[in-house]
Amino acid sequence: MNAPAANLSSQGTLIIVGAGLAGYHVARQARQQGHTGAISIIGDEPRPAYDRPALSKAFLNGTVNFEDLHLDDPANPLEVTWHSGSGAVELSTEPLGVLTADGTFHAGDNVVIVTGAEAQRLPSFGRSGGAFVLRNVEDALALRERMIEGQRIAMVGGGFLALEAVSTFIDRGAAEITIIANEQFPGEARLGTSVAQAIRGLHEKRGVAFGPSVFAHSVTDIEDGSQVLNLTNGDTVQADIIVCAIGATPATRWLRDGDLALDPSGAILCDDFGFTGIPGVWAAGDCSQWTSQAAGLRPIGQWQEAVEQAGIVAAAIMGAPPVPFQEPYFWSEQYDVMIQGAGRIAQSNEVHVLDGSIEDGDLLVSYRLDGEEIGILGMNRMREVKRWRKMRTARALATA
Ligand SMILES: Cc1cc2nc3c(=O)[nH]c(=O)nc-3n(C[C@H](O)[C@H](O)[C@H](O)COP(=O)(O)OP(=O)(O)OC[C@H]3O[C@@H](n4cnc5c(N)ncnc54)[C@H](O)[C@@H]3O)c2cc1C
Repeated sequence: MNAPAANLSSQGTLIIVGAGLAGYHVARQARQQGHTGAISIIGDEPRPAYDRPALSKAFLNGTVNFEDLHLDDPANPLEVTWHSGSGAVELSTEPLGVLTADGTFHAGDNVVIVTGAEAQRLPSFGRSGGAFVLRNVEDALALRERMIEGQRIAMVGGGFLALEAVSTFIDRGAAEITIIANEQFPGEARLGTSVAQAIRGLHEKRGVAFGPSVFAHSVTDIEDGSQVLNLTNGDTVQADIIVCAIGATPATRWLRDGDLALDPSGAILCDDFGFTGIPGVWAAGDCSQWTSQAAGLRPIGQWQEAVEQAGIVAAAIMGAPPVPFQEPYFWSEQYDVMIQGAGRIAQSNEVHVLDGSIEDGDLLVSYRLDGEEIGILGMNRMREVKRWRKMRTARALATA
């Protein structure tokens, strides 16, 4: 596949909308590839660009601070103009540029949209504003500053973000935690029964309870200051703190009435260079859906994916040779267990436990498609996962 034609010479103006992971890496990669023109990064958050994974882990339990999450390198800062605290509200294709909430029009030769995603929320009844969520640093700060010790917590959602926060709350002395997820073994459909059982076991061993496998539909405040989580089977869970980690939707509301093609979730549809079909307009990271993601061949909402897409977009804009995708990779830290997955796990049709035990939660699992190994997952198996990734990279290089 050939890269689409870009509007940019290396001296052109590049406008990046979204001062997050993908935005930072588009700028870093464009500079590394020789872009000497102006680069502006527009962010709606009034803070320096930061990395999110620690928000549900070390930042949430207070072992790292905001400065530790900064994306830019103080020893080698990006040569860009940061426009923080005023988000994009309109994309113009003729002339090409972006209008921000403060009324400024930022004209560019190329615009890269990297606005990430927004946490999904449950409807709430009462004055508290409902459940906590975890997407940005303000969300994490609200939970970091909240007394957790001795509290009853209801966690809505069984994904990694929810389970990481639960493990942090246990470390911080929560009295009771109930997880409401719509799978008996969270992650079973995605990762297979053995891994999902092992992960559930990790939490049950620390006293975490799993509620019925149903959806939660709303949160109601009650008079004693606590809250009630209402479930679709009519049950309720009363808690001092309710946290909702049920996924995120692309932060593209500002684009809904415009020319870009969005999928039903709001993700910007792009080819596998991040090209949107509108000359000079590109998208990457959690706000976008690339062709290979739409086809189920690549994961969505993962750190490595956002960084790789950023590099591919920067190369396409610069007219440089395309950067090949690596095998997908994700990680999650829960208690003292590092879970790492690599490869095309979602496409597998067989799961084999290679080593370890479900009870001890130290599994090494192989994912296969019609007998061929296409993915691996390890729980505290850093060496094996690293070796597998290295081997796959070497194989890809040899066949390129
Ligand atoms: C709490 C948490 C923990 C995670 N942990 C892991 C992990 O362990 N492993 C893993 O693989 N992945 C993890 N992820 C996922 C990973 O961090 C994301 O995939 C990644 O941040 C996506 O990068 P992005 O640049 O697309 O979006 P973001 O990093 O979200 O950046 C988007 C930025 O754009 C801004 N923005 C939104 N709208 C506008 C607008 N209109 N104008 C201007 N700016 C706007 C947003 O405020 C934000 O600053 C985690 C995510 C979260 C939230």
